[in-house]
Amino acid sequence: MIVLKFGGTSVGSVENIKKVAKIVKTEKKQNIVVLSAMSGVTNTLVKISNLLSQKNRVDAQLEMNNLHQKYQDVILKLFKSKLSFDKASLVIECHYDELLSILEIKFSEKVEKLILAQGELVSTSLFQLYMEEIGESSSLISALDFMIIDNNHEPDSNKIKEELSKIILKHSDTKVLITQGFICRNTNKEIDNLKRGGSDYTASIIGAAIGASQIQIWTDISGMHNNDPRFVDQTFSIGEISFDEAAELAYFGAKILHPQSIIPAKEKNIPVLLKNTFDPDARGTLIHNNAKVEKIRAIAAKDNITAIKIKSYRMLMAYGFLKKVFEIFEQNQISIDMITTSEVAVSLTIDDTSKLDNIIQELEGLGSIEVDNDLSIICIAGNLSQNKKGVTALIFNCLVDIPIRMISYGGSNYNLSFLVKTTDKVTVLNLLNKGLFIKVGSKN
Ligand code: ASP
Repeated sequence: MIVLKFGGTSVGSVENIKKVAKIVKTEKKQNIVVLSAMSGVTNTLVKISNLLSQKNRVDAQLEMNNLHQKYQDVILKLFKSKLSFDKASLVIECHYDELLSILEIKFSEKVEKLILAQGELVSTSLFQLYMEEIGESSSLISALDFMIIDNNHEPDSNKIKEELSKIILKHSDTKVLITQGFICRNTNKEIDNLKRGGSDYTASIIGAAIGASQIQIWTDISGMHNNDPRFVDQTFSIGEISFDEAAELAYFGAKILHPQSIIPAKEKNIPVLLKNTFDPDARGTLIHNNAKVEKIRAIAAKDNITAIKIKSYRMLMAYGFLKKVFEIFEQNQISIDMITTSEVAVSLTIDDTSKLDNIIQELEGLGSIEVDNDLSIICIAGNLSQNKKGVTALIFNCLVDIPIRMISYGGSNYNLSFLVKTTDKVTVLNLLNKGLFIKVGSKN
C-alpha cells in the first residue's frame, strides 16, 4: 500500500481537485489518500476562532458565510450529476450549520479545535464524492476514528496501528481510502490537531502504521531543490536524499516538508517521494536511507536570525557556565539554533525574539552581552563527515569576500552551517551554487 498526501494548493480549486483525482486514479493498488483543507481555509478558520475568542460574532459569521459561499461555488463546478451535487450540498450545509451552532456556545480551546477541523472534514468529503462520481472505488475513513494522540501530544502509534488495521480490513475491497490530514483525537476523545502544516505528519504516521511501501507528498513544487530557486538561477531538483540530510534542510528553510513529519517514516525506513501535482511527470525527490552519498547535496537559508554573544572571564576553565546560559533560554521557552564557544565567550542564535529583552537582562548576570540582528543562517547539507578531506575548504573558498559571523560544523555528519548578514545572503547562495554545483558539478 502507498500513502498519497495532497496539500492545500493541490485541492485548492475545482481544476486542481480534478488533477488530484487523475493522479490517484493512476495508482493500481489499494492506497490511502490524505488531504489538507483547501488552500486558505484553515487560515479563515483560524480567523473565525480569533474573532470568536474576542466575542466578535458578527464578523465571525461573515467569515463563515464567505466560506460557505466558496464551497457552494466549488461544488457547482465540480459535480456533473444532480445526485453527487445534492450529496455535496448536504455536506457543506452540515458543516456550515456546525459552524453556525458554534456562534451560540462559549468559546474555548476545545471549540477552537472543532472549528479548525472543518477544513479537512469538508475537503475529504467532497473529494470522495467526486471519486464516486467518476466511478472510482473509494471510501471516506475518518482520521478521528484512528489518529489518536497521547498526553504529550505525540501520536499513539500502537493505538493508531490497531484502529487503522481494523478499518482497512473492513474496506479491503475499496481501492482508495480517503482521510483527513492534520486532525486527530486526544486522550479525552476530543477533536484535536497535529499543529499547523500537520498533514504531512499525518501521512507519515499512517505510512509507518500500515508499513506502506512508499509515502508520497504532493505539493506545488517538483521536489527539493539544491538551492533556493527564488534567489538563485540554475538550481535543480534533487533526485534523492537521505532522511538525515532532508531533516537538516527542512529545519533550515526548505519548507517543502514539515520537519517533524519525516520522523515516523525514517523510523520505519519508508521512502518518502516528494512530487508536484501540477507536473506529475517530473521525477520529484525520493527521501530514503540508501540515497547515494553526495559530498554536497543542497543549500538552504533561514532569515530573521539574532545572534547573542555572552563574554565572561568567569567562563575560563569553569564548569557549569553553559548550563546557566541554557537555563535562561529554557525558562523563557526559546529554542537555540546555532551555538559556538571559545574559552571566554559563547555565541548562539535564536529566531524568536519575543523574549529577547528578558533574556538579555538575565544573561547580563553572567557576562557582557552583544546582540546582532538581521542575520541569516546558511545551511549546507550533504555527507560532510569530519574525516572527509577538503570539503570545508571547498565551501569556504567560495566565500573569501564574505564576512562570516559564526560557523557550526561537526554537530552532525550532514550539516555545516554559518551565519552571515541577511544583506549578504543572496550573494552567498549564488557563490555557493556556482562553486559547489556548477563548477565542480559531477565531481561531488
Ligand atoms: N490545513 C492545515 C494547515 O493549513 C494542515 C495542513 O495543511 O497541513 O495548517
